[in-house]
Amino acid sequence: VAAPAPDYLAGLNPEQRAAVETTEGPVLVLAGAGTGKTRVLTTRIAHILKLRLAYPSQILAVTFTNKAAREMKQRIGLLVGGEVEGMPWLGTFHSIGVKILRRHAELVGLKSNFTILDTDDQIRLIKQLLQAENLDDKRWPARTFANLLDGWKNKGLTPDTIPEGDARSFGNGKGRELYRAYQARLSTLNATDFGDLLLHPIAIFRDHPDILADYHKRFRYILVDEYQDTNVAQYLWLRLLAQMSDSRRDAGQSAVNVCCVGDDDQSIYGWRGAEVDNILRFEKDFPGATVIRLERNYRSTAHILGAASGLISVNEDRLGKTLFTDLHDPEHEKVSVNAGWDSEEEARTIGEEIEQLQHKGHKLNDMAILVRASFQMREFEDRFVTLGLNYRVIGGPRFYERLEIRDALAYFRCVCQPADDLAFERIVNTPKRGLGDVAIKLLHEYSRAKGLPLLAGAADLVQGDELKPRPRAALAEVVRHFDRWSGLLSTTRHTDLAEMILDESGYTEMWQADRSAEAPGRLENLKELIRSMDDYESLPGFLEHIALVMDAEQNAETDAVSIMTLHSAKGLEFETVFLPGWEEGLFPHQRSLDEGGRSGLEEERRLAYVGITRGKRRVKITFVSNRRIHGMWQSTIPSRFLDELPEDHVEVIEASASYGGYGAGGMGGYGASRWDANAFSASSYGTPGWRRAQAAGGMGDTYQGGRGRKIEYNEGGVSGSGARAAST
Ligand code: ATP
Ligand code: MG
Repeated sequence: VAAPAPDYLAGLNPEQRAAVETTEGPVLVLAGAGTGKTRVLTTRIAHILKLRLAYPSQILAVTFTNKAAREMKQRIGLLVGGEVEGMPWLGTFHSIGVKILRRHAELVGLKSNFTILDTDDQIRLIKQLLQAENLDDKRWPARTFANLLDGWKNKGLTPDTIPEGDARSFGNGKGRELYRAYQARLSTLNATDFGDLLLHPIAIFRDHPDILADYHKRFRYILVDEYQDTNVAQYLWLRLLAQMSDSRRDAGQSAVNVCCVGDDDQSIYGWRGAEVDNILRFEKDFPGATVIRLERNYRSTAHILGAASGLISVNEDRLGKTLFTDLHDPEHEKVSVNAGWDSEEEARTIGEEIEQLQHKGHKLNDMAILVRASFQMREFEDRFVTLGLNYRVIGGPRFYERLEIRDALAYFRCVCQPADDLAFERIVNTPKRGLGDVAIKLLHEYSRAKGLPLLAGAADLVQGDELKPRPRAALAEVVRHFDRWSGLLSTTRHTDLAEMILDESGYTEMWQADRSAEAPGRLENLKELIRSMDDYESLPGFLEHIALVMDAEQNAETDAVSIMTLHSAKGLEFETVFLPGWEEGLFPHQRSLDEGGRSGLEEERRLAYVGITRGKRRVKITFVSNRRIHGMWQSTIPSRFLDELPEDHVEVIEASASYGGYGAGGMGGYGASRWDANAFSASSYGTPGWRRAQAAGGMGDTYQGGRGRKIEYNEGGVSGSGARAAST
């Protein structure tokens, strides 16, 4: 008869317990959202420590975010109590990579106090290299090369191993030399970029078997969360550390104790080089692996789970799995789908719902808004400031704090308040106008001596000949621009003026020329900024509003709604989840539709699955019929994902009465395509009305409709029946 389970194991189901207690040998936990994968990992670490199978320092655990690592540390602390000294090696691939690299830096030509470059530093460095090679950075932008580098490093490729085609693709065939020169430069600077935090350790492990052997001896237990989103470099790094070896045998191990947990349906970083196949390869890499499936979901109600399972079953490229929940209370709300007129109404409705929930006693901390594209956040942030609702933006700066928004605002501030030196400094050479440090320093000295703000000082300075001709001409142009814009302040509509400023200054063009992955998002944000001005009378009025928004508290202690992208919501859970913007072109995102293939669309669908499965009690999806995308009002089509939600689990909210409130003229440009509320009614969810709209929108050829794969839903639960396609 087995002894009664200790407290920390008592609540686990048999499969979870097996995953915790099978401490020896390779284990793969492959299971859907909310089945307790992360909880299993945490408990497993506690278990290993409780049984004293290893010292904390002999455990290596990898999480996907630093936040997840902090939470896991906390929970382990609670589970084991104060009994254990020290902590496991617990962090993201990068943070563990740094730790390892610091110990052996000299082996790759670095000192242990090396610095880690941020993106800005990296771009500056690449620009210098391009200049040295006489490569025009208009034709060969530094950011493009930074992206290439990133891609190579994600795949674990060094200058010697990048494919010939790649090497030739950049800088007149100089890709390989540039990569080499870049690494040499980093080494002189005693610096690394993010990719090197894994690539250097990989090189060290490969070139120094004795060091690798030490790590084999050290790490008795290795654990990885979110395994489906590891990229090739991470995989290589992990495989080296998790090899069976003589040193492990000498230490008495008969197998590698590696435990990876993941969900192929939640692989959402393919665009950043993640390879879901790593999960499928596990049993080959670690022969004799125990594969454990968890099928009971502890997070969500049956309706939420049913909706998510139905949606994801449309994907063909999946392993397929069963999920069920015991949360069958008939009181539970269905997943709601709510239509709105435009994004402003969407934000207003969600704001009201949040206030209602709050009045009923729900905490803001338990609510989240998950968006597909970060530009969507702006409308919510503005609305919440107006309502006085606390919010926090997770995984990135708040809308008005983003780089491109701050730059744009700096331009507007200078126009409205010519003495705003901070703003002027920020943009005087952004975009690059050939105003170097020398010229700027001179301008500062000159202005200070004359007791003038910088812009006025500049107007003065360009009259004389203190500056060299090139910077003088550049600065004179800046002065001329600001004169003109200030003059237009009282006569031109402020949104037009704002757009003009960004165009004439070359700022918009700078991002248009930029081929980095973030550039399109930044342009979207700039358009959104201008759109948001529409709600204010004037540029100064708008700037005043911004000052207030910027001041809004963002404090971890206060009760606040979370706003974040779907990508950064991975692994998290909330009582109530709002999912706005379910429209074709936004979600699924246009980029995935343009690619044409199945894989991009399926990744979008997985993202939708991640979104729905974040909800514990309430999931509220919204879409609107008019959205301003890329600065233009477009009438939009409801997302195909809506059609794919099984009807039984969805409640369609009748279109709100506020439609009539908008005169067609006021919004401009959308004309006749006004969404017909009759096509959408509570009783006929997914009626031909939507399909008509889809056909009219020209999406007909790529759109397959809900494939209606049957989701069985019996008393016991919901089973998605997706079978993995033969392509793997
Ligand atoms: P995701 O795929 O979204 O990362 P996951 O599989 O990692 O999900 P967890 O976050 O570990 O799931 O667990 C989901 C929720 O269910 C958590 O609130 C967790 O505490 C709870 N949970 C997990 N297992 C149990 C259990 N045996 N008893 C009660 N609650 C549980
Ligand atoms: Mg998890």
